[in-house]
Amino acid sequence: MKKITIAIDGFSSTGKSTIAKHLAQVLNYIYVDTGAMYRAVTYFAMKNNLIGDGFFKVDELIAKLDEVELKFIYNPQVQLAEMYLNDENVEQQIRTLEVSNFVSNVSTISEVRKKLVEQQQKMGAEKGVVMDGRDIGTVVFPKAELKLFLNASADKRANRRFQELINKGDVVSYEEILENVKSRDYIDSNREDSPLVVASDAIEIDNSDMTKEEQFEKIYQIVQQKLQEN
Ligand code: C5P
Repeated sequence: MKKITIAIDGFSSTGKSTIAKHLAQVLNYIYVDTGAMYRAVTYFAMKNNLIGDGFFKVDELIAKLDEVELKFIYNPQVQLAEMYLNDENVEQQIRTLEVSNFVSNVSTISEVRKKLVEQQQKMGAEKGVVMDGRDIGTVVFPKAELKLFLNASADKRANRRFQELINKGDVVSYEEILENVKSRDYIDSNREDSPLVVASDAIEIDNSDMTKEEQFEKIYQIVQQKLQEN
């Protein structure tokens, strides 16, 4: 069967990566978490003192972008590709609330986006890819055969994220997570370069009141239909 490109975009913490991983596994496709790439650049900026509370040295970050090498390396133990920044596994470090608090600002920088989009386009050039992010159906793969756009209420999304972080042992409050989710939504939707918008040919799914299983079932049916059409 011909392989297709599946673009999954949507607001923060809508479960894009869960559904994308599951689909990639079932279809035997490559999965690319583009948010991890923006998070890794943010972690690089934090480590190099280029971003922090009240400051962001944009020009210095742009000048250092050549020093940022990102790779996904498959870890058979967890059966997932993990994010490497200059040969360091940063999978844990990029998932903290601190990184979440700075990532949307880093993602407004066009030079950062250009570098990451080029890499993403190479990774998906052969099709057979499920990629999730904010601009996949609009900028990275505007010709993707299937585009999904996920949404859910801010409260539901903050709750899911809060549970995830608490289960990992992070010390966070529900209020700060809700604040982070809302602020990322705002910055991601209002930036000049590649804002988060619904592609005109995307299928929108609000999963506020759906279980993961119900959602997978619905999306898998859509995928099957697309595969038959192509
Ligand atoms: O998907 P995740 O929540 O990990 O993404 C983190 C942040 O990275 C987003 O809030 C957004 O600012 C940025 N991002 C982006 N474009 C993408 C993927 C993520 O701007 N394709």
